[in-house]
Amino acid sequence: MKPPVEMARLFRERGLKMTPQRECILDVLRGAEGHPSAEAVYAEARARMATMSLKTVYQTLNDLVAMGEIQQLDLGTGASRFDPNVDVHHHLVCTSCGKVRDLYADFRSIEVPPGASQGFTVGSAEVVFRGLCAECQGAALAR
Ligand SMILES: [Zn+2]
Ligand SMILES: [Zn+2]
Repeated sequence: MKPPVEMARLFRERGLKMTPQRECILDVLRGAEGHPSAEAVYAEARARMATMSLKTVYQTLNDLVAMGEIQQLDLGTGASRFDPNVDVHHHLVCTSCGKVRDLYADFRSIEVPPGASQGFTVGSAEVVFRGLCAECQGAALAR
C-alpha cells in the first residue's frame, strides 16, 4: 500500500474524500501483519474510532482492492482476508486458528507441466502452505 499522501490522491481520483474513517482503516491495515478479515479490521478500527461502521469498512476494503492497493485472499479460513502487501509472495496458514503469515521464498520449479495448461498463459503462482502455527502446536502438545 502506498504512503498516506499518495493514498489521499488515489481516493480523490476516484471521487472519494480522505475521511478520518478511511484514514483510520488505512492505518489499521498498515499495522496489520496478520492478514485481517473485514470483521477484524472493523473491530480494531471501531476501538480507535467510535463512529466507524462495518459498512464503511467493507466499502473501503472493496475500494482498496479495486485500486490494487490491497489483496483480497481466500485462504480457506472462513472469511476473506486482506493483505496490504501486494508484492508476489506466499502464505503460511494455520488450519487450527486461521493465522496467516507472509512467506518469501523463490519457488523456481513451480511450473505447469507441458500439455497441462489447457490454453492458459500463466503469469504468476502463489503457494499456500497449511499446517499448525507455533502456538497451536504448543496447545496440541499440552493436551
Ligand atoms: Zn494456530
Ligand atoms: Zn500476505
